[in-house]
Amino acid sequence: MLNRALVTLLPLVPRPLVWRVSKRYIAGKSLEAALDCVRTLNEQGMSATLDVLGEDTAVAEDAVKGRDLYLAALEAIEKAHLDCNISVKLSQMGLRFDPELCRSVMRDLVSSAATRGNFVRIDMEDATATQITLDLYRELRRTWNCVGTVVQAYLKRTPEDVDQLLKEGLATLRLCKGIYVESQAIAFQGKEQIRIAYTEILRQLFEGNSAKVGIATHDRPLVEAALAMIKELEIPPERYEFQMLLGVTESMRQELVTAKHPLRVYVPFGEEWYAYSSRRLRENPQIAGHVFRNLFRRSS
Ligand SMILES: Cc1cc2nc3c(=O)[nH]c(=O)nc-3n(C[C@H](O)[C@H](O)[C@H](O)COP(=O)(O)OP(=O)(O)OC[C@H]3O[C@@H](n4cnc5c(N)ncnc54)[C@H](O)[C@@H]3O)c2cc1C
Repeated sequence: MLNRALVTLLPLVPRPLVWRVSKRYIAGKSLEAALDCVRTLNEQGMSATLDVLGEDTAVAEDAVKGRDLYLAALEAIEKAHLDCNISVKLSQMGLRFDPELCRSVMRDLVSSAATRGNFVRIDMEDATATQITLDLYRELRRTWNCVGTVVQAYLKRTPEDVDQLLKEGLATLRLCKGIYVESQAIAFQGKEQIRIAYTEILRQLFEGNSAKVGIATHDRPLVEAALAMIKELEIPPERYEFQMLLGVTESMRQELVTAKHPLRVYVPFGEEWYAYSSRRLRENPQIAGHVFRNLFRRSS
């Protein structure tokens, strides 16, 4: 409760202080900082996916700037021989104001990834974008294999979407709970209900012979359920990878790596760190407590 109340006070906290707390969850403001972070993760036996921070752009210039940063990232990843792909939000690429621009930017990104032997993951955003994201994903898959997207366990439509994608041979998916606030009409609300949905969809993907599944969660009971399912169904490591956000549940991450499970870390970076941090803090108000404790320490 207290932490939730603190989140509402966040806009009053000086940005340098928010940065002190956020930098654990963000690789840095520049591509170079992000590549350094990826290199360290690779040395520790983890792969990575880069996220250039920025969503809901409102002008073409910002979408093009985002595209150019991703293109530079793909080039740098190849040059440095890093084990890293990219994760992209369509709203950053102009989806909300110019779907044609978004389509053309995504074609540029996936085409560049294809020539470099890399991969593009299209992040899933709020429910107003679900269908259009799946449609664009299907369109891109007509030309390229090196693109996947995300499904959210809290959405009631997801088992049907997964069923359809499995039938089309297009189930190259990351499975997450879903981060946006959605209505009861379309999304499960209870933690336990979402966990059940998550494990059912994971089973659907494994049993449906999907391509590699990104098991994106930090929720220990879900990680354990996934491990049990992998064992029960004898799923080989080429067919799954755990995925976690930078700076979150690092000890569990290490346990999985030590047990030789493939693990990819989602590495956000860029100038738009403040909006991203605010979202993370709203999502997990416990971190807000740290911000305010740091504030206290500084002034004492
Ligand atoms: C790699 C990756 C990619 C994702 N991509 C998408 C996407 O494309 N679309 C989408 O809607 N959502 C995405 N998400 C977010 C996801 O939907 C969840 O909102 C988020 O992962 C929290 O759910 P959880 O499964 O970790 O379980 P929770 O029950 O929320 O978390 C379990 C525990 O993990 C820790 N934890 C979780 N999140 C954080 C955090 N941010 N900071 C600090 N500690 C934390 C806490 O200790 C918490 O108790 C992604 C998540 C990951 C890991």
